[in-house]
Amino acid sequence: MQLLEERIQTAGQVLGENILKVDSFLTHQVDTNLMKEIGQTFAQTFKEAGITKVVTIEASGIAPALYTAEALEVPMIFAKKSKNITMTEGILTAQVYSFTKQVTSQVSIAEKFLSSDDKILIVDDFLANGQAAKGLIEIIEQAGAKVEAVGIVIEKSFQDGRQVLEEAGHQVLSLARIDRFQDGQVVFRQADL
Ligand code: 5GP
Repeated sequence: MQLLEERIQTAGQVLGENILKVDSFLTHQVDTNLMKEIGQTFAQTFKEAGITKVVTIEASGIAPALYTAEALEVPMIFAKKSKNITMTEGILTAQVYSFTKQVTSQVSIAEKFLSSDDKILIVDDFLANGQAAKGLIEIIEQAGAKVEAVGIVIEKSFQDGRQVLEEAGHQVLSLARIDRFQDGQVVFRQADL
């Protein structure tokens, strides 16, 4: 997605060896026009796929997932990272190792929001080693629902997330694919969408 690649080039900051900071448009402040384009691009791709829900993980997946769900006219569910006293009914859980926080935490979705009839599109902001997406897939499969595909805003293709997910039989579609960081600049490879 050209608009996204241009924004990453102009506003993204490379931190260390493998982190991209995009807090001015995606992970802290959110550019709603760009999110709308992102949502429409995913929705266009999956409009015939019979998606019933979009699932993401809090917090930074919520913006792109919400715009995707709106464009597909389906609900969006975000997995919660901390246990909440209002979650009194059955919950489905998975352990997820966070790439940026370097801790393992339990993520959960209330059982009542997923059923075996659901066809799910997972949407997340970044794909690094695939742990967040793997945790979401685990939860969705516990509910007997089907994961149709994993839609990623920014994939770091030099990490092994795509391989992990594809080897588990899942389709990954990314709007921007980063091949490498070179002298503080982002070098892209051909994106999926
Ligand atoms: P994974 O689970 O695929 O290893 O990592 C994906 C998760 O880690 C995303 O949900 C995202 O929140 C975070 N993440 C991974 N890499 C980056 C990065 O380079 N920049 C930012 N801002 N977040 C990242």
